[in-house]
Amino acid sequence: MSINYRIIPTLLFSSLASLAVLTTAYQYNKDNKDHQRAATLAAESTFQASESPVSVDLTDADNKYAEPSDSKQLTLALKYVAFQDNTGQPVLNEKAIDKLTQEVNDLYAPCKIHFIAEEFKPVDPKTYGLEFNTQSMNDLTPIRSQFNDNKRLVVINTGDWNHNSMGSANAWTTMPGENPAGAVIEANAASFAGIVAHELGHYLSLDHKSDSSNLMNPIIYPDSTVIHSWQCEEMRKAAESYWTSAIR
Ligand SMILES: [Zn+2]
Repeated sequence: MSINYRIIPTLLFSSLASLAVLTTAYQYNKDNKDHQRAATLAAESTFQASESPVSVDLTDADNKYAEPSDSKQLTLALKYVAFQDNTGQPVLNEKAIDKLTQEVNDLYAPCKIHFIAEEFKPVDPKTYGLEFNTQSMNDLTPIRSQFNDNKRLVVINTGDWNHNSMGSANAWTTMPGENPAGAVIEANAASFAGIVAHELGHYLSLDHKSDSSNLMNPIIYPDSTVIHSWQCEEMRKAAESYWTSAIR
């Protein structure tokens, strides 16, 4: 297993009141040919302080948004699992998830792909033999196993991660064909629509694209919002190949 991180130069972090910067990591596991894609939130404290770090302007005529003319809307069901801390507070509550899903849908609207938050499951991780704060990369598969759901795409929001052992990644998502499937996102990144939308792109088979305006750019900026029509088509094919039971 090798992990390559792309880290943004530190100078970018100096004044990030409005710039939420994410770096993204890639893991390729040669042993079982599994792919996982991850995103890393680089400016955690800034991000936490920001109410809405992503600005999405869907009316920008310069954005080459995809418009698959003959495609019908594709609706996919999501299941959000939110770990509760020791006071019983979930990482995201239902209201936050509604807002998040709307923001993700705004990003995906040009693709005519729509997500519905079909299930919200706040859980005490201890009852599943899990810790609120994820300690190691080895914990991710047991987490996915506990909440696996073949009728919905699963987004699991845990507490913050131990970055000493896990590197700088904030989210790891399985690629199609890998089981158990699921996006696991730490609390610092949980409410950031850009990172959730990016992870759902991986969930639906997309690789990174080196283009800072693109949703799948390895580094996500507030205006990394473009999804090309070919990316839309790739995601549709993945949904129809792997996630038909999640299509509504
Ligand atoms: Zn990524």
